[in-house]
Amino acid sequence: MPNPVVSIKKSRVPSLVRRHPWVFSGAVHHIDGSPQDGDLVTVTGPDGSFLGVGHFQSKGSIRVRILSFVDRAVDASFWHDRLSDAVALRTELGLVASPDTNAFRLVHAEGDGLPGLVVDWYNGHAVIQPHSAGMQKAVPVISETLSSLFDSRLCSVSVAGQDTEIHACEISEYGHRFHVDWLHGQKTGFFLDQRENRRLAAAYAEGRNVLNAFCYSGGFSVYALKAGARSVCSLDSSLQAIEWAEQNVALNDIDPARHHRIAANALKYLKQLPEQFDFIILDPPAFAKHLSARHRAIQAYRRLNAYAFRQIAPGGVVFTFSCSQVVTPDLFRGAVLAAGIDAERNIRILHQLHQPPDHPVNLFHPESEYLKGFALAVE
Ligand code: SAH
Repeated sequence: MPNPVVSIKKSRVPSLVRRHPWVFSGAVHHIDGSPQDGDLVTVTGPDGSFLGVGHFQSKGSIRVRILSFVDRAVDASFWHDRLSDAVALRTELGLVASPDTNAFRLVHAEGDGLPGLVVDWYNGHAVIQPHSAGMQKAVPVISETLSSLFDSRLCSVSVAGQDTEIHACEISEYGHRFHVDWLHGQKTGFFLDQRENRRLAAAYAEGRNVLNAFCYSGGFSVYALKAGARSVCSLDSSLQAIEWAEQNVALNDIDPARHHRIAANALKYLKQLPEQFDFIILDPPAFAKHLSARHRAIQAYRRLNAYAFRQIAPGGVVFTFSCSQVVTPDLFRGAVLAAGIDAERNIRILHQLHQPPDHPVNLFHPESEYLKGFALAVE
């Protein structure tokens, strides 16, 4: 049976021709048939010319997520092609069977031509996080395809947040050990996107008093402690996260006396820091999840960074990040600049930070460049 057809307005055709994979609700001209959430639909111009095939969603601002810009069936061979391409890239990056790390992102949604799908690899366990009804429905075929691609190297396939027999494991990242729990954890259980930035942070940590704000399971804390930080404070608003951070510190044979825990709202805590740090890491969750929240999010980044800049010891280092998709690199830089002006400190950019290449950016989909940050020296 042919797919239902979604035809789009003439003015919106160029966006798809340029291979941007989202069809917004406002772009829809007419829907032929009655597609259900997660169904495959064919997208055409108003004249019926083929533009793409993708997953339909009746709610939210994105009506169709395009899976292919060529006219082909989305069948077992499609999933095999896309997923084997994703594996091939990670193999080329040296991440599959790497001696340095056994955890990486296997599928990065639009960055791998699979909008709505995230798969993280944790030491032989593939953890799927579907972000659309279509990907939710496709979980069985995705699992089967991953099983055939990895064969005996695959221990289990799970969906993040769903109770399965195996829902946690230990991973190793550049010699640091972490417990990852994809049933109780946030996202798929661990923030793989900060791997290279954690490694860079280790190079600045020796002898410093570190505040790791928004620490989650203590990724940056473990790296800093192992690299010889004098002390590390792990701060998060989630008690569960802080407990994991403590567990991970213990897992790495670090003297627990050098590690402190703070359960607090980071913005409130930073506003009136009771002690002085000389290395502050700010890795908040996405402050803006929608375009409508962007302005407020930028103000929040500005305040958060200004607090850190005001309080940090002379000669201190700040690693600051934004993972909001709608806050572009330029906008984030503007917020950090404004914070520097507010704090009246001289600040230099040492490194511009990004997501690593197992989170590839689709050139035609600028939104997939979501993680940006700076390593800053504060005079
Ligand atoms: N840097 C971490 C990932 C951070 S994820 C890593 O490398 O693994 C963002 C974290 O911020 C989550 O753990 C969440 O619980 C925490 N969080 C959210 N809002 C917060 C707030 N207002 N104050 C402190 N922590 C917060």
